[in-house]
Amino acid sequence: MISEQYRNMLQAKSVIRMLSEKATKRGSEIGYENVFDFSLGNPSVPAPADFTRVMKDLLEKEDPVKLHGYSPTLGIPSVKEKIAASLKRRFGLSYGPEHIFPTAGAAGAIAHALRLVTKPGDEVLTFAPFFPEYHPYVDLTGAKLRILPPDRENFQICFDELEKALTPEVAAVLINTPNNPSGALYSAETLKCLARILEDKSREFGHRIYLISDEPYREIVYGGVEAPYVAAFYDATLTCYSFSKSLSLPGERIGYLAVSPRCPEAEVLIQMCGQVSRGIGHNCPSSIIQLAVAEVVDRTADLKVYEKNMNLLYDCLLELGFEVVKPGGTFYIFPKALEEDANVFCTKALDHDLVLVPGDSFGCPGYFRMAYCIETEKVERSLEALRKFVRGNYR
Ligand code: PLP
Repeated sequence: MISEQYRNMLQAKSVIRMLSEKATKRGSEIGYENVFDFSLGNPSVPAPADFTRVMKDLLEKEDPVKLHGYSPTLGIPSVKEKIAASLKRRFGLSYGPEHIFPTAGAAGAIAHALRLVTKPGDEVLTFAPFFPEYHPYVDLTGAKLRILPPDRENFQICFDELEKALTPEVAAVLINTPNNPSGALYSAETLKCLARILEDKSREFGHRIYLISDEPYREIVYGGVEAPYVAAFYDATLTCYSFSKSLSLPGERIGYLAVSPRCPEAEVLIQMCGQVSRGIGHNCPSSIIQLAVAEVVDRTADLKVYEKNMNLLYDCLLELGFEVVKPGGTFYIFPKALEEDANVFCTKALDHDLVLVPGDSFGCPGYFRMAYCIETEKVERSLEALRKFVRGNYR
């Protein structure tokens, strides 16, 4: 018998992917340059030249048998060493290779983290607006994802809701800062408060509540500041990192899980990752990609275009009367729609070849997301379409 669970999931396919397919289809009719496709979070800048050079060097100089051989179950030791040294240098926590597990992007890291610290039936809390893929990530482990309402004022955390929702059934809290889709960057104040509540509740319930911190946008932060490092605030933090956005390598599927060295079971948790991998058929990312990112671990692609695009859109949205929180990072912005049903709003926008994603699947109806990881020239041209759309329908 085929799986009912996966068959049922076919009815709930990703809205983002469906819109992106629509944009591609429209592009084949009028030329893709004329479609203002704000649907997908695919980086628009190339990977750094250093990365390409390292890949070429590896291919030319390394022993091919070794280079293309199986990676050790827990990742290549020299790679883990370099990642740990970078985290230690940047954030001051005493990471060693024993705290790092290379994964297929942040998705792979989250898949492992969830299985390390939850069992079927446990609750995992997250805050709206949230990345819709958290549903399959969590649901398919047998744990239950519980979404807490948004703090609409600034998209930080609604602590009253968190305190109410924290029951003994909660095994983990899953956060994402800077946030997809809101662009909000959690402040040090927010993280301090979150840590205090989790510590108090862990003590009260007699079991540790883990914090799973999803950080693929850690390096895309605006205004010249650095994102507060989540694990520095709470000891039982499992950091899920990805090079997909920072190095523009989403197709290479590379990231890592880092368990805080201050977390009491850190080393055994990383060793357990090898066992989780056996169950989910993940195994480590390809050896050559592990080796290559380790050589450029402190570098990023040229990310400044995202801030430029954000400012263009933010100013135009304000001018048009939208309610919108200024993003602190990522390449997303999440304004309130100009009518109650954001699905209707986004459907009307399609008439102007503006592809916007309704907030419903992010747990925040009435809002919409724009992914502005596109050329600045196209963002500039889209502003006129946005003005026409708003003036024609809402003024
Ligand atoms: N988490 C968030 C918030 C994301 O936006 C994404 C991808 O867009 C992921 C996780 C998955 O990232 P990766 O491509 O590294 O698996």
